[in-house]
Amino acid sequence: EAKGRGRGATVVFSEAFAARQERQAILVQALKGAVSNGELSVVFQPIVDAVRREPECYEVLLRWNNPVLGRISPEEFIPMAEEAGLIVELGAFAMEAALRRFAQWGGQGAGCRIALNASIRQLIAPGYVETLRAAAARHGIPPSAIVVEVTETIFADTYLDLTHRVLRQLQDLGIDIHIDDFGTGFSSLSRLHEMPVQAIKIDQSFVRRMDPQAVAIIEGSVSIAEKFGIATVAEGVETEAQADLLRAMRVTYLQGYLFGRPEIVPGKLAAPPSEPGRSAP
Ligand code: C2E
Ligand code: MG
Ligand code: MG
Ligand code: MG
Repeated sequence: EAKGRGRGATVVFSEAFAARQERQAILVQALKGAVSNGELSVVFQPIVDAVRREPECYEVLLRWNNPVLGRISPEEFIPMAEEAGLIVELGAFAMEAALRRFAQWGGQGAGCRIALNASIRQLIAPGYVETLRAAAARHGIPPSAIVVEVTETIFADTYLDLTHRVLRQLQDLGIDIHIDDFGTGFSSLSRLHEMPVQAIKIDQSFVRRMDPQAVAIIEGSVSIAEKFGIATVAEGVETEAQADLLRAMRVTYLQGYLFGRPEIVPGKLAAPPSEPGRSAP
């Protein structure tokens, strides 16, 4: 009987597995045409100064809307694009679309920066730095107004020399590097110190939990960042209570639905310039 149950579970598992494989195959096929069919777009989410609560940067996030499959989350299609060798094409689209729009709004003139996510595969692909440099120049955006967010996977041994060289090239241009989803991956603190990094983004899972362990991780991250002379960003801030705690823990910048959802046109930049002499309390 136990044996029978075991076999039944195996069948169910295999069916679920097969269904997932099939969805993956369909998505990859659709993703191959997504850029040329105009199914991809970019949205912008503000990152605010924790004390002044004014946007200092806008993070670019990719969106995919397929006419048949509907909206697909980046959590699903980004890893798929990485595996299928499509991430460089997607990343190039996001870079160009976002820089063009940012320049149209005059984001850099408003004193804001723009943050692009880059997978390690994009970073190590030939020409990443030059493509970014050229795109920024073409749109009149100074490199100092650009941030590249990379995850801790760049600390893995495999491409360490190469990633180090690429990050150095970005830094030499004046582009800042932020470590995304900090605390969830290969956190080698000595490597953090070796890499040219200007900020760490504390993963939203810690902000959401905010239990004593999560608080310890956030406080530890802030302490390390302060000793390294770099900034911290907390992502996924949804409540005033979280914002208050994070500010009290001296986190430099905050990002989350409390301050703004990812939007096609960022509210602040879309609005007419504020009246002279009228300043926030
Ligand atoms: P990420 O870079 O860590 O981006 C933060 C994610 O958290 C975004 O999800 C954002 O919409 C979401 N988020 C922001 N504030 C809140 C909040 O207050 N509450 C909650 N629950 N969520 C919040 P999204 O847009 O689904 O992107 C997921 C991930 O996909 C990103 O994580 C990033 O790793 C990747 N991604 C998105 N766009 C790109 C891209 O252009 N290139 C690359 N390489 N990766 C991208
Ligand atoms: Mg990011
Ligand atoms: Mg993140
Ligand atoms: Mg994340």
